[in-house]
Amino acid sequence: MVKVIISCMDYRLTEEIQKRADNNTLIFRNAGANVNEFIDRLKEIKPDEIIYLPHTDCAAMKLVFNVIKNNDKVNEEVENKLVKQFRKVKFETLEELERINASINEEMLKQITNNVRTELIDVSKLKWPNRITKVYFYLPNMRAKEVGAYILQSSSLSDVSADIYIAKEKLGFKEIYDCSSSNCKQI
Ligand SMILES: [Zn+2]
Repeated sequence: MVKVIISCMDYRLTEEIQKRADNNTLIFRNAGANVNEFIDRLKEIKPDEIIYLPHTDCAAMKLVFNVIKNNDKVNEEVENKLVKQFRKVKFETLEELERINASINEEMLKQITNNVRTELIDVSKLKWPNRITKVYFYLPNMRAKEVGAYILQSSSLSDVSADIYIAKEKLGFKEIYDCSSSNCKQI
Protein backbone atom coordinates (compact mmCIF):
# COMPACT_ATOMS: atom_id res chain seq x y z
CA MET A 1 0.00 0.00 0.00
CA VAL A 2 1.76 3.14 -1.20
CA LYS A 3 0.35 6.47 -0.13
CA VAL A 4 1.48 9.70 -1.78
CA ILE A 5 0.82 13.32 -0.81
CA ILE A 6 1.28 16.04 -3.40
CA SER A 7 1.32 19.69 -2.38
CA CYS A 8 2.93 23.09 -2.81
CA MET A 9 6.31 24.31 -1.51
CA ASP A 10 4.53 27.12 0.42
CA TYR A 11 5.99 27.83 3.90
CA ARG A 12 2.58 27.58 5.62
CA LEU A 13 1.81 24.00 4.58
CA THR A 14 4.51 21.80 6.13
CA GLU A 15 2.59 20.92 9.29
CA GLU A 16 -0.65 20.37 7.38
CA ILE A 17 1.10 17.99 4.98
CA GLN A 18 3.05 16.07 7.59
CA LYS A 19 0.03 15.52 9.83
CA ARG A 20 -1.70 13.77 6.92
CA ALA A 21 1.33 11.52 6.31
CA ASP A 22 2.26 8.30 8.06
CA ASN A 23 5.84 6.98 8.25
CA ASN A 24 5.80 5.41 4.80
CA THR A 25 3.97 8.17 2.93
CA LEU A 26 5.86 9.69 0.02
CA ILE A 27 5.61 13.48 -0.19
CA PHE A 28 6.03 15.49 -3.38
CA ARG A 29 6.06 19.30 -3.25
CA ASN A 30 6.75 21.97 -5.85
CA ALA A 31 5.52 25.41 -6.86
CA GLY A 32 1.73 25.20 -7.15
CA ALA A 33 1.29 21.47 -6.35
CA ASN A 34 1.92 21.00 -10.06
CA VAL A 35 1.24 17.33 -10.87
CA ASN A 36 2.51 17.69 -14.44
CA GLU A 37 6.05 17.91 -13.10
CA PHE A 38 5.73 14.67 -11.08
CA ILE A 39 3.56 12.57 -13.39
CA ASP A 40 6.37 10.31 -14.65
CA ARG A 41 7.60 9.68 -11.09
CA LEU A 42 4.07 8.83 -9.97
CA LYS A 43 3.66 6.35 -12.83
CA GLU A 44 6.85 4.61 -11.65
CA ILE A 45 5.72 4.54 -8.01
CA LYS A 46 2.16 3.32 -8.78
CA PRO A 47 0.55 4.67 -5.59
CA ASP A 48 -2.61 3.05 -4.18
CA GLU A 49 -3.73 6.28 -2.57
CA ILE A 50 -3.06 9.94 -3.40
CA ILE A 51 -3.88 12.94 -1.26
CA TYR A 52 -3.73 16.10 -3.33
CA LEU A 53 -3.32 19.34 -1.36
CA PRO A 54 -3.32 22.59 -3.33
CA HIS A 55 -3.99 25.78 -1.35
CA THR A 56 -5.43 29.29 -1.49
CA ASP A 57 -3.23 32.42 -1.78
CA CYS A 58 -0.67 30.43 -3.81
CA ALA A 59 2.33 32.37 -5.16
CA ALA A 60 2.70 29.94 -8.07
CA MET A 61 -0.91 30.51 -9.12
CA LYS A 62 -0.34 34.28 -8.88
CA LEU A 63 2.66 33.79 -11.14
CA VAL A 64 0.60 31.83 -13.68
CA PHE A 65 -2.12 34.48 -13.49
CA ASN A 66 0.37 37.29 -14.13
CA VAL A 67 2.10 35.48 -16.99
CA ILE A 68 -1.19 34.77 -18.80
CA LYS A 69 -3.16 37.93 -17.97
CA ASN A 70 -0.40 40.53 -17.57
CA ASN A 71 2.29 39.16 -19.85
CA ASP A 72 4.90 38.63 -17.11
CA LYS A 73 7.93 36.72 -18.31
CA VAL A 74 9.18 33.29 -17.21
CA ASN A 75 11.73 30.94 -18.73
CA GLU A 76 10.78 28.22 -21.20
CA GLU A 77 10.91 25.43 -18.63
CA VAL A 78 8.39 27.16 -16.31
CA GLU A 79 6.21 27.95 -19.31
CA ASN A 80 6.18 24.31 -20.41
CA LYS A 81 5.91 22.60 -17.04
CA LEU A 82 3.55 24.99 -15.25
CA VAL A 83 1.98 27.83 -17.25
CA LYS A 84 1.11 26.14 -20.55
CA GLN A 85 -1.63 23.86 -19.15
CA PHE A 86 -3.66 26.93 -18.12
CA ARG A 87 -3.50 28.75 -21.46
CA LYS A 88 -6.36 26.70 -22.86
CA VAL A 89 -8.75 27.29 -19.93
CA LYS A 90 -10.90 30.35 -19.20
CA PHE A 91 -10.58 32.19 -15.89
CA GLU A 92 -11.03 35.75 -14.68
CA THR A 93 -9.90 35.71 -11.06
CA LEU A 94 -7.11 34.13 -9.04
CA GLU A 95 -9.67 32.17 -7.02
CA GLU A 96 -11.07 30.70 -10.23
CA LEU A 97 -7.57 29.75 -11.35
CA GLU A 98 -6.92 28.04 -7.99
CA ARG A 99 -10.07 25.95 -8.37
CA ILE A 100 -9.17 25.07 -11.97
CA ASN A 101 -5.68 24.08 -10.81
CA ALA A 102 -7.20 21.71 -8.25
CA SER A 103 -9.50 20.08 -10.81
CA ILE A 104 -6.95 19.80 -13.66
CA ASN A 105 -4.46 18.13 -11.35
CA GLU A 106 -7.05 15.86 -9.77
CA GLU A 107 -8.03 14.62 -13.24
CA MET A 108 -4.38 13.93 -14.05
CA LEU A 109 -3.96 11.98 -10.81
CA LYS A 110 -7.02 9.86 -11.53
CA GLN A 111 -5.09 8.42 -14.48
CA ILE A 112 -2.72 6.96 -11.86
CA THR A 113 -5.28 5.69 -9.31
CA ASN A 114 -9.00 6.15 -8.64
CA ASN A 115 -8.19 6.63 -5.00
CA VAL A 116 -7.51 10.38 -5.10
CA ARG A 117 -8.66 12.77 -2.39
CA THR A 118 -8.31 16.50 -3.08
CA GLU A 119 -8.44 19.11 -0.34
CA LEU A 120 -7.97 22.77 -1.27
CA ILE A 121 -6.31 24.09 1.89
CA ASP A 122 -7.64 27.48 2.92
CA VAL A 123 -4.55 29.16 4.38
CA SER A 124 -6.70 31.85 6.02
CA LYS A 125 -7.79 29.12 8.45
CA LEU A 126 -4.23 28.09 9.39
CA LYS A 127 -1.94 29.45 12.05
CA TRP A 128 0.97 30.79 9.99
CA PRO A 129 4.53 30.03 11.12
CA ASN A 130 7.20 32.73 10.90
CA ARG A 131 8.19 32.91 7.25
CA ILE A 132 11.77 31.90 6.43
CA THR A 133 12.87 32.89 2.92
CA LYS A 134 14.96 29.76 2.38
CA VAL A 135 14.24 26.71 0.25
CA TYR A 136 15.07 23.14 1.26
CA PHE A 137 15.00 20.14 -1.05
CA TYR A 138 14.17 16.71 0.40
CA LEU A 139 13.49 13.27 -1.04
CA PRO A 140 9.85 12.03 -0.85
CA ASN A 141 10.46 9.69 2.12
CA MET A 142 12.19 12.41 4.17
CA ARG A 143 10.52 14.85 6.57
CA ALA A 144 11.43 18.51 6.52
CA LYS A 145 12.20 20.01 9.91
CA GLU A 146 12.35 23.65 8.84
CA VAL A 147 8.86 24.85 9.75
CA GLY A 148 8.24 28.20 8.05
CA ALA A 149 10.70 27.58 5.19
CA TYR A 150 9.81 26.66 1.62
CA ILE A 151 10.09 22.93 0.96
CA LEU A 152 10.60 21.13 -2.34
CA GLN A 153 10.31 17.34 -2.41
CA SER A 154 10.83 14.87 -5.23
CA SER A 155 12.93 11.86 -6.24
CA SER A 156 15.63 14.01 -7.81
CA LEU A 157 16.72 17.64 -7.53
CA SER A 158 16.54 17.91 -11.32
CA ASP A 159 12.76 17.24 -11.17
CA VAL A 160 12.27 20.61 -9.48
CA SER A 161 14.62 22.81 -11.52
CA ALA A 162 11.67 24.91 -12.73
CA ASP A 163 10.67 25.49 -9.10
CA ILE A 164 14.19 26.51 -8.13
CA TYR A 165 14.06 29.06 -10.96
CA ILE A 166 10.76 30.38 -9.56
CA ALA A 167 12.21 30.56 -6.03
CA LYS A 168 15.31 32.43 -7.19
CA GLU A 169 14.07 34.61 -10.00
CA LYS A 170 10.44 35.26 -9.05
CA LEU A 171 10.37 35.03 -5.26
CA GLY A 172 13.89 36.43 -4.81
CA PHE A 173 15.18 33.66 -2.52
CA LYS A 174 18.97 33.44 -2.39
CA GLU A 175 19.43 30.46 -0.10
CA ILE A 176 18.55 27.06 -1.54
CA TYR A 177 19.67 23.88 0.23
CA ASP A 178 19.89 20.32 -1.06
CA CYS A 179 19.02 18.06 1.90
CA SER A 180 18.77 14.82 -0.10
CA SER A 181 21.91 13.41 1.58
CA SER A 182 22.63 13.43 5.31
CA ASN A 183 23.75 17.07 5.50
CA CYS A 184 22.03 19.99 3.79
CA LYS A 185 24.32 21.67 1.28
CA GLN A 186 23.72 25.13 -0.17
CA ILE A 187 23.42 25.04 -3.95
ZN1 LIG B 1 1.48 27.52 -3.39
